[in-house]
Amino acid sequence: MKRLFKGGTVVSGRGTKRADVLVEGEKIIAVARCINDADAQVIDVSGMLLMPGFIDAHTHFDLDVAGTTTADDFASGSMAALRGGTTTVIDFACPNKGETLQQGLALWRQKAEGKCCCDYGFHMTIDDWNDTIERQIDEMYAAGISSFKMYMTYPAMMLDDETIYRALKKLKEKGGICGVHCENSGVINALTAEAKSAGAMGVGSHYRTRPDYLEAEAVARLLRIAQAVDVPVVIVHLTCTAALREVENARRRGQKVYVETCPQYLLLEQSAYDSDDWIHAARHVCAPPLRTPSDQRVLWAALRRGEIQTVSTDHCSFTTEQKERGRGDFTAIPGGLPGVETRGELLYSAGVATRRISLGTMCKVLSENPAKLYGMYPRKGTIRAGSDADIVVYDPQADHMLRAEEMVGRAGYTPYEGFITRGSIAQVWLRGELAVDDGTVLAHANGKYIPRGKCNL
Ligand code: MN
Repeated sequence: MKRLFKGGTVVSGRGTKRADVLVEGEKIIAVARCINDADAQVIDVSGMLLMPGFIDAHTHFDLDVAGTTTADDFASGSMAALRGGTTTVIDFACPNKGETLQQGLALWRQKAEGKCCCDYGFHMTIDDWNDTIERQIDEMYAAGISSFKMYMTYPAMMLDDETIYRALKKLKEKGGICGVHCENSGVINALTAEAKSAGAMGVGSHYRTRPDYLEAEAVARLLRIAQAVDVPVVIVHLTCTAALREVENARRRGQKVYVETCPQYLLLEQSAYDSDDWIHAARHVCAPPLRTPSDQRVLWAALRRGEIQTVSTDHCSFTTEQKERGRGDFTAIPGGLPGVETRGELLYSAGVATRRISLGTMCKVLSENPAKLYGMYPRKGTIRAGSDADIVVYDPQADHMLRAEEMVGRAGYTPYEGFITRGSIAQVWLRGELAVDDGTVLAHANGKYIPRGKCNL
């Protein structure tokens, strides 16, 4: 079965060009100014932008955390992803404490297989370090897992500096890449205890106990550890100017540093935590917390200059009912926001349409860079002959309002309720099949596991 996307504008990291796209089966077989093929079904995409399927390299589906489980599993999460133009997610596999990486991988495969509607891969979480785990790093590569995650905070998962050093050293030997959650755990614990003993149990204490400089401190420390190992690292969900300055310092001394941010840090403000409406405030709880408008401006400028490589979502959704667990104790609010369903339209609307970033930059941070950084390029992340036919058909004229009731994610709310988009996702094609048409998800649970190779960004 051949399909010919005719009359559209193809977007890449370098910009746009008028081109037709010919697809056969799951693959793109030609991209050229004018293609005619009598055997192909023609899809008229005149006036539309064709973007490579978005990649979300930071999701948490079916995750047990804080005594509960995320509202979205791989079925609903991947349907939400597709609706938002995301054709591939990389979720964080996380072994239970004391279990091996192999057990963690088996657990996550079981969660995803036969349920996931988009393509998927896994980062492996390293939450402990011993000879068994060190040996299993090799097995992870054999299973197509080339990226890892470490935490400098959260008691259940955090690693000390020596362990981070040892783990990075092993990953360097294998050419692996590691994303790190950077926040200073000890001082946050102390500030949290102080807030609690002062009776400051409201949501506002969430951001007051996790200030920007404690994120910056952890970023700086991680980057010094990476300097000692001489290995590139990924700062995941970077939120603020102070942390970005530490990245700039490391780059000035010659280190390679990759930076990820998320739509919530570009668009939502910490003032939400001080809302009189408790549930409104609680719905915004995530870590690191939302920051200030000044931080947002700095992040947008860094995106424009190419200093931030990826925009992922950290999708970690909880229902209002689940958020209610923390009424009376801000530390018991499950942390995380839904985001996988809205990222593409938000970045186009708030970034491209307002000229904060170019279409090329949008394509880089949503598709091309994550594909390269996480070893899937050029199978994913680009519209060219030989690549998977993952295509987002974007209609720049079809403005609409984001409304939770239209969404397929299970949080039941969106932090972007009422946001008027510029344009909208008209269709999403996953490996040559129509997966979303005008907001309706058609795809079934036939997402493929994508084994990944080494970082080449
Ligand atoms: Mn996360």
